[in-house]
Amino acid sequence: MNWVEENTDTISALREYVQGFEKIRPSVFDYFEGGSNPLIPLPVESERGAGTLFFFASLYQNITEPVLMRILSELWKEFGTDIFKLNRLPFARLNSKILSLPGTEKWAFAQQAAGVLRSGCDFFYAHGGLLAWVEKEKDAENCVEIMCRDVFLMGKTSVLKWKPRYFMWLLTQLKNISPDFFWNDRALVPITQGHTRIMREFGPLRKGRVPWTTPAEKQDYFNRFYRMLFPGESFRVYLPFDRYLKPGDLNPSDLQFQCLDAVKHCRNCRLVELCPGKVGV
Ligand code: SF4
Repeated sequence: MNWVEENTDTISALREYVQGFEKIRPSVFDYFEGGSNPLIPLPVESERGAGTLFFFASLYQNITEPVLMRILSELWKEFGTDIFKLNRLPFARLNSKILSLPGTEKWAFAQQAAGVLRSGCDFFYAHGGLLAWVEKEKDAENCVEIMCRDVFLMGKTSVLKWKPRYFMWLLTQLKNISPDFFWNDRALVPITQGHTRIMREFGPLRKGRVPWTTPAEKQDYFNRFYRMLFPGESFRVYLPFDRYLKPGDLNPSDLQFQCLDAVKHCRNCRLVELCPGKVGV
């Protein structure tokens, strides 16, 4: 018997754990119209909302989500919809505007941000609206390759290409676009520390043997497991697995793990029996 055949109960528990997060949307969506902290004046489902998500994913490096979204909201206040034409603005003016914004002082990537935004605007000019572009390309990994090729510091030399894969995953969470159009068995879910924690506690890594030698092989291995859990819909695991035993970093005073957002109490959680982080049971 292989690992999957020997662990049908654990696999059912993981599927139920993931299903418990079905109504929970990515926290970055909270910053758009209709969210709990609407800093961006439009729905995330709009073409411009997707464009703003693209800026977010391309700049999400060495910075927290709330600080980066505040920076993007300041740029929205300054430029309005011309934020998508920043490639026409002289580099020095855009760069000094970005560096004047709160939150950029300690941001190691701040000096690259103007180049990334201008390159993103060139990308919009070349490919048009992102939602229409993705539906036309019909393949998440093709989109990842094109973004890496065409957008400054999007991941061309990165093995894991985390930024474009995270962006493609964000698109699977929009209500107005069906992932069926672009998500297939080639698509790779980006992996995080929470994913590794899940694989160690509940997945085949419980046996202790690490069956990969490179980060890319690790990502492929995880994704094979995700496809076994949810054939054709591997994107469903990203958020629930990312939040597994993840400290509540969106609110520093919140000491609870983010996986509790779905079940409210560990006694309601399908993983409680084997979970080393359970509280109050
Ligand atoms: S900490 Fe609680 S809610 Fe989170 S996975 Fe463990 S048992 Fe479930």
